[in-house]
Amino acid sequence: MLENKVGMIFGVANKRSIAWACAESASSNGAKLAFTYQGERLKENVEKLAGELPDSLIVPCDVSNQSDVDAAFAAVGDKYGKLDFLVHSIAFAPKEALEGEFVTTTRDAFRTALEISAYSLTQVALAAAPLMKEGGSIVTMSYYGAEKVVSNYNVMGVAKAALEASVRYLAADLGKQNIRVNAISAGPINTLSARGVKNMGSLLGYVGEKSPLKRNVTAAEVGNTALFLVSDLASGITGETIYVDCGYNIMGI
Ligand code: NDP
Repeated sequence: MLENKVGMIFGVANKRSIAWACAESASSNGAKLAFTYQGERLKENVEKLAGELPDSLIVPCDVSNQSDVDAAFAAVGDKYGKLDFLVHSIAFAPKEALEGEFVTTTRDAFRTALEISAYSLTQVALAAAPLMKEGGSIVTMSYYGAEKVVSNYNVMGVAKAALEASVRYLAADLGKQNIRVNAISAGPINTLSARGVKNMGSLLGYVGEKSPLKRNVTAAEVGNTALFLVSDLASGITGETIYVDCGYNIMGI
C-alpha cells in the first residue's frame, strides 16, 4: 500500500508509543521511515526499534528547538529526496498541570503545553510541505479532552482543542499542494505520556466499560487508522478528526 513512499514519524519513545504502532503499520505496508527522537535519553530506544526496519533514518529533534526541526527535515531531504507522509505523535505538559483543577494552570505550563503539543504541528507542516512535492498526508494524535472536560487532562485538553483547530486551518492552506492534514482522536491507551495524567488507570477502566465495543482501543488499531489516512485510500479526506476510540465519543447517558 505504501511502496515507494517515505514517511517521517515524530514521537516514538518506546515500543508502547502510538507513534511506534503507526510505524509498524506503515513499514509492514512498504514505507521507508525516518524517525525523530527528543533527546539522548530516548536515542537508544528508538535506535533499537527503528534499526529493525529497512533503510530507516534516525534523527534527533526536540520541537522546542527550531534548528533541530530544520536539521531533521534537511536530513530527510538528503537521504530520500522527498517526503510522502508525516505522523506527528508528540505532546507534553508539566506533570503538575495534569492533576487538580484547570483553573490553577500557570502561564508557563499553558505556554509549554500549547507550544509542544499544538504549535509543533504547524511547525513541522511548514517544514514538510516543500519535501511533499507530489502531495502528502500529515496525521496527528488528539484526544476527547479537546471537546469535553476530562478530569486531570486540564491544559492538555486546551492544547488538543488548538491542535484540532490547527488541523482544519492547515488542511485549508495546504490542500492546494495536495497535502492532506487529519487528526485521529484516540481512546486512552496505557503509554508513557498517558501515565503522566493522574488517575489514568481508572479512566481506562471507565472508558472500557462505557464504550460500545466494551473495551479499550489498542495502539495497533490507531496505527492502522494512521496507515489508512496516509495511504491513497484516504485521498478525499482532509481537515478531519477521526475517532478511534471503540465508539466512546458517541455515548450520551
Ligand atoms: P509517548 O510518551 O509514547 O509519546 C509521546 C512522545 O512525545 C514521546 O516520544 C515524547 O518524548 C514526545 N515529546 C514530548 N515533548 C517533545 C518535544 N519537545 N520534542 C519532540 N518530542 C517530544 O505517548 P503516546 O504514544 O501516548 O502519545 C503520542 C500522542 O498521542 C500524543 O500527542 C498524545 O497526547 C496522543 N494521545 C495519546 C492517548 C493515550 O491515551 N495514550 C490518547 C489520545 C491521544 P519524551 O518521552 O522525551 O517526552
